[in-house]
Amino acid sequence: MYAHYHQNSILEKLQINKHNPGVYDPCESWSSDPSAISIISVNPATEENLASVTCANLECCKQVIENARLSAESWRSVPAPARGNIVRRIGELLRKNKDALGSLISLEAGKTKQESDGEVQEMIDMADFAVGQSRMLYGKTMHSERINHRMYEQWLPLGVVAIITAFNFPVAVWAWNAFIAAITGNCVIWRPSPKTPLCAIAVQKLCHQAMQETGYHGIFSLLIEKGSAVAEQLTCDGRVALVSFTGSSHVGQRVGATVAARMGRSILELSGNNALIIDQTANLDLAIPAVVFGAIGTTGQRCTTTRRLFLHTSLYDEVLGRLQKTYRQISIGNPLDHQVLMGPLIDAWARKTYLAAIASVKTAGGSFAVEGGALEGPGYFVSPSIAISENHWPLVQTETFGPLLHLMRFDHLTQAIEMQNSVPQGLSSALFTNNLVNAELFLSAQGSDCGIANINIGTSGAEIGGAFGGEKATGGGREAGSDTWQSYMRRQTNTINWGNDLPLAQGLSFNVPN
Ligand code: NAD
Repeated sequence: MYAHYHQNSILEKLQINKHNPGVYDPCESWSSDPSAISIISVNPATEENLASVTCANLECCKQVIENARLSAESWRSVPAPARGNIVRRIGELLRKNKDALGSLISLEAGKTKQESDGEVQEMIDMADFAVGQSRMLYGKTMHSERINHRMYEQWLPLGVVAIITAFNFPVAVWAWNAFIAAITGNCVIWRPSPKTPLCAIAVQKLCHQAMQETGYHGIFSLLIEKGSAVAEQLTCDGRVALVSFTGSSHVGQRVGATVAARMGRSILELSGNNALIIDQTANLDLAIPAVVFGAIGTTGQRCTTTRRLFLHTSLYDEVLGRLQKTYRQISIGNPLDHQVLMGPLIDAWARKTYLAAIASVKTAGGSFAVEGGALEGPGYFVSPSIAISENHWPLVQTETFGPLLHLMRFDHLTQAIEMQNSVPQGLSSALFTNNLVNAELFLSAQGSDCGIANINIGTSGAEIGGAFGGEKATGGGREAGSDTWQSYMRRQTNTINWGNDLPLAQGLSFNVPN
C-alpha cells in the first residue's frame, strides 16, 4: 500500500500521468494521436504497469525532423554563451527534481536509488560543464605563409543531432550528448529506449519548462516509439547531421553503416567486455570492493560492468574466498530500498539471456565459484554469479548484460594484458597494483587497448570531465567532457587576405594575362 502511494507520488511530482503523449515536437509542444500505438512502461521490480505512452509513427518522425531543421536555422545564430543559459536552467531544474527523477529511474529501470540519484547528478555535472564550455568553443589561429594574410579556424553548428539511447542509462547519456549539442548550436531529437520512456518524458518536461522560460523553442524534442522504425528513419534521414547512438554492438554496427552510407556523422557508444586485473602487489581492500561494485552494480547492466577478472596466481585463493564471502551478503531487492545493493534485471528477456549464459558456462566445461540464478518473482530478480572460465570461449568473448563475472588466473602481467585485449570490445579496463612499472606498462602502448584504462579504480563509474568511449567493437565514439564538443560542430578554416596582392600558397606563380 505504502509502496503504491510512494510510486504515485513520484510520478505525480514529475507530471507523469496514467497515459502520456510520447512525442514532443519542436513547434507543437506535446502532441498525441489518440489512434497511435501505445507502449506500457513496466516496473521491473514488481512487473506492474507504471503508465502508458502513445508512440510516434514514421510520418510524425519526418515532421519532427523537419521542424527541428527549421529551429536549428535560428538557434545557430544565438551566441554560444546565450545558448548555455538554457542548459543552465535545465541544470537548475534537475537539481530541484533530483530526488524524484532518481526515484523514477529506480522505478522504471530497476537501478538502486543510490545509482539512480548518481545518474541525475551526472546530468547536473554535465549541465555545469556544458555551460562553461559554451564560452570556450575555441579555434586555433595559425600564421599564414603568405604576407598580409591571416589564417584561423572556427567551429560552427551542424544542424540537427539525433540521440538514440539505451535503457541502462535512461537519462545521463542523453545529457552527455544533448547539453553539448545544444551549446554548440544544434537542435536535438531524442529517441530513448522504449524500455524506459517515462524517464525521457520527465526530462523532456523539464526541457519544455526551460525552453518556455528562456523564450526559445525547438531545441530539444522527443520521439518515443515501439520498435525501431523511427530510430531507423533518424539514421537514414539526410537532414540529421549527426546520429549519436548508444546500444549494443550489433545494432550499432548497422546504425554506423547506414549513417556512413549517406556521408553523415555518427558517434557510436557500444558494448563493452571490461576486464579488471589484480597483480601480486595490489591492495585488496581497494580491489575487492571495486570488483564487486563493477560486477553487480546496476545488476551487471552497465556498459562498463566488470565482466572479466584476471587474478595473479599468488593471491587467487585469497581473492576468491573474499569474493565468495562478499557475494553471500549482497542484498537483492526493491531498488528504492536504501539497503539494497542489487535491483532486478530490466525484463524477462534479460533474465532469460542471463540464465542462458550460466548454462553456457557449464556447456563450455566451466564451473562456478558462486552460481547465481533466477529468484522467485514478482520482478526480474536474479542472484549474481562468478564463473571459472577461459578467455577464448565464445561466451567470454561476448557481453552478457547481467551480473556474470568470469574469473581467470595469470602468472605474468603481460599474459593478463594479452588476455584482456583479446576480445572484440575495447571500452573500460583496470589494473590494481602498487608496482609503478606494472602501472606504467598497463598505460603504455603495450598495455590496455581500451578507451578507458584505470589504475586502482574499477572499470565502472567514469567522471564526466573526461572523454567517455571505447575502441574496436565499442565503436570508437567519445562523449561527455574533454574536447568531445568538437564532434558536434563542423570545423572551418578561414584565410583572410588584407593586402593588395594575391600571392598563392606554396609560392606558385600563375600569371593571368591582362
Ligand atoms: P540495444 O542495442 O538493444 O538498443 C539500444 C537502442 O537502439 C534502443 O533505444 C533501441 O530501441 C534502439 N534500436 C533498436 N533497433 C534499432 C535500429 N535498427 N536502429 C536504430 N536504433 C535501434 O541496447 P540496450 O539493450 O538498450 O542497451 C544495452 C547495450 O548498450 C549494451 O551492449 C551496452 O554495453 C550498451 N551501452 C553502451 C554504452 C557506451 O557508452 N558504450 C552505454 C550504455 C549502454
